[in-house]
Amino acid sequence: MTSHWTERYADALMNTFGPPKLVLTRGKGAHVWDADGREYVDLLGGIAVNALGHAHPRLTAAVTEQLGTLGHISNFFASAPQIELAERLGTLLVEPVETRETKVFFTNSGAEANEAAFKLTRRTGRTKIVAAAGSFHGRTMGALALTSKLAYREPFEPLPGDVVFVPYGDVAALEAAVDDRTAAVLVEPIQGEAGVVVPPVDYLPSAQRIAHEHGALLWLDEVQTGVGRTGTWFAHQHPDLVSDRVVPDIVTLAKGLAGGIPIGACIATGGSGKLFDPGNHGTTFGGNPVAAAAALAVIDVIEDDGLLEHVSRLGARIRQLLAADPRVTEVRGAGLLIGLDLAEPKAAEVAAAAQDAGYIVNAPTPERIRLAPPLVLTDADSDAFLAAWPAILDAAGVGKEIA
Ligand SMILES: *Cc1c(COP(=O)(O)O)cnc(C)c1O
Repeated sequence: MTSHWTERYADALMNTFGPPKLVLTRGKGAHVWDADGREYVDLLGGIAVNALGHAHPRLTAAVTEQLGTLGHISNFFASAPQIELAERLGTLLVEPVETRETKVFFTNSGAEANEAAFKLTRRTGRTKIVAAAGSFHGRTMGALALTSKLAYREPFEPLPGDVVFVPYGDVAALEAAVDDRTAAVLVEPIQGEAGVVVPPVDYLPSAQRIAHEHGALLWLDEVQTGVGRTGTWFAHQHPDLVSDRVVPDIVTLAKGLAGGIPIGACIATGGSGKLFDPGNHGTTFGGNPVAAAAALAVIDVIEDDGLLEHVSRLGARIRQLLAADPRVTEVRGAGLLIGLDLAEPKAAEVAAAAQDAGYIVNAPTPERIRLAPPLVLTDADSDAFLAAWPAILDAAGVGKEIA
């Protein structure tokens, strides 16, 4: 069955992603099944997207009900789910620290959320963006201009300009690069695509101070880290990740926000929420009632089921047990965004061996494994994975030479 589909895939789809690792037919919770009927524990969750796992009854019901009531209307018109979601996100973002006005622009993806934010920063009258090496902000031309990886950028240059990259986590480098021409400092609270790289705890507070000293905006890309992934609503609110409170001017979201229904959001606080005038930006699908209803359902379930606490507790346990194997040289992350370094650059082999053993994990770099499972991952599924982990490393040949 699978080989039949992969042949048709190769004939019908552009080869941007390489051959698919599996052809999947259905999912339930943190489990998925392939076209040959094999079952896997999904520890990648659609790349940090399936916050509620697969086929969650409350998400399914919310989407079905909204689609059966009012599915799409364009932005000539407004709908209650869109307005409620914007209000809700604003509250989650600023309420823990202060009352501050928030304004939201909805999109369909992370790249589009960053495009919106990029355009918003131009409305300051400045153009320079200071971003970080190792960053990932998406694949559209604007988002790509903000993404540091040369292999992604070079085939498409020239890209929109005035973006400067500085080493990630380095406060002195920010001090040196940010000036009075800088429109915004853009960083991820944790660099996900780089393999879950966590900056020092003073990094985000310092980035905020430095940006504001120069009248620049602090823009945090929480596309991967937002909406409960790290055990707090937003990673920049996590007490283990920041030494002082951070109040960003712009936050971009997408991935987990609607649990798998395409959505993105550019949220601006304070005066930066008023930088766009009518006609400055737009979207046909962004903010559509179905995506907004899905996001509201995700937020409700995270609250009702106590998932932030679950994510914190389970994530800490997984990190601790993964670190126990000497072939793992470092484990990083927060909540259920977890990255680890292998003693040898065999991440692709490890991901393949994990898949053979019935576990989906991701190899973002040759040395690094990333886990971003559904927030509803059960203790039983994570225990089964942790029990299988040493044998997965064996099968991938990690550390064989040393042993
Ligand atoms: C995935 C990701 C994006 C891009 O999101 P798309 O929905 O793929 O466009 C942007 N920023 C970060 C931090 C991401 O992880």
